[in-house]
Amino acid sequence: MPKSFPFKIVSAFVLFLSVISALHAVDKKTSQLIDLEIQRHWDEILKTRRFLHMNPELSNREFETSKLIAAKLMSLGLDVQTEVAKTGVVALLTGENSGITVGCRADMDALPIQEQSNVPYKSLNPGVMHACGHDIHMSVALGTAMVMSALRDRIGGNIKFIFQPAEEGAPAGETGGASLMIKEGVLDDPPVAAIFGLHVMPFDVGKIEFSPGAIMASSDRFEITIKGKSSHGARPHEGKDAITLAAQVILGIQTIVSRNLDATDPAVISIGKIEGGIRSNIIADEVRLEGTVRTLSETNRSKIKELMENIVKGTTSSFGADYVFSYRKGSSPVYNHPQLAKIMIPTLYEVLGDENVGNITPQMVAEDFSAYCQKVPGFFFFLGVRPPEQKSMAPLHSPLFNPDERSIATGIKVMCHLLLDCLEHQIPIENTS
Ligand SMILES: [Zn+2]
Ligand SMILES: [Zn+2]
Repeated sequence: MPKSFPFKIVSAFVLFLSVISALHAVDKKTSQLIDLEIQRHWDEILKTRRFLHMNPELSNREFETSKLIAAKLMSLGLDVQTEVAKTGVVALLTGENSGITVGCRADMDALPIQEQSNVPYKSLNPGVMHACGHDIHMSVALGTAMVMSALRDRIGGNIKFIFQPAEEGAPAGETGGASLMIKEGVLDDPPVAAIFGLHVMPFDVGKIEFSPGAIMASSDRFEITIKGKSSHGARPHEGKDAITLAAQVILGIQTIVSRNLDATDPAVISIGKIEGGIRSNIIADEVRLEGTVRTLSETNRSKIKELMENIVKGTTSSFGADYVFSYRKGSSPVYNHPQLAKIMIPTLYEVLGDENVGNITPQMVAEDFSAYCQKVPGFFFFLGVRPPEQKSMAPLHSPLFNPDERSIATGIKVMCHLLLDCLEHQIPIENTS
């Protein structure tokens, strides 16, 4: 064996390490510049967040929000498109060097909730509130655009900032949200190679959490109408009791997850509404049930739909009753692309430190960011918004939800590093999700 062999191995390893670290870490100087730019823009970012919080708008009605976002992005010299998917705003930041295009998405809509906390920047719009933290998401994306605009000379490629309306769902009879943005070409021209997004969550500010693979569930809705036959309450044998049948259907459905699905692949079936009957002494001829199905896999998703209808059909037919079953697919699971996640996860640890990055199990709530993940590799993470001095905080969609604004700085920092590291790789990743 030649004498130089161990040395060769060591130098090859050192070279390997330096390549890996060069691949994963934006250089120190860029990192310092990101921090300085966040500081420089902090007052404006905070002012913008508070304005957005005070002026929340419902899904597909984000008119003033859209105007403000577009004006801010235009002032940064970005190429801005408005009225995408009704009120959406898309802005392209072109780096000084050429390369791929990566996307940064924020949602814009608020919820029909009356804010109950007494923050000085409380909602001025009665019955409407940013209770899901989309004002924080928009502030992170705007702040990221501000910082990245100052760092154009360090960008090889483009960043597409996507401000999307109606994440909470378009009003009845309307379309909207991520799927409409995609339909209107948000992922094309220039084509988006990878897309990034985040959602606030009630854990410590300064921390983030992620999960490789599925991170959020699919969300489908179902409606079941059981059609029996009415009779006198004292003569049930002359009718077909829709209430008794509904009770059996509910219990049957609740055995799907526990008895029919692989226990290592989580799923939830919840019936949130039941309606039927006329009065105490009349056998009900009709009962309506409404519920939601959450899964992390397409296998469970289609299995549940089929099993559910089998139960409804079997139960009603055994009593000579009838039924109507309707199942509407909503968003698919939010899926962190494995190859993209593998490249991006070291960035999270480098930027925030091991103690501030949590690897979590997937959550059964849903997000329409999943629509982008179906088309291009996506990476989605959770941003902590709980003030450290508080042991607990009001959850998302609560009238008392009050996220810690310092989370915006963490969000911007992480997002800037993710986008820059992804651009630095310039790897066309195949979307196999
Ligand atoms: Zn929400
Ligand atoms: Zn949300």
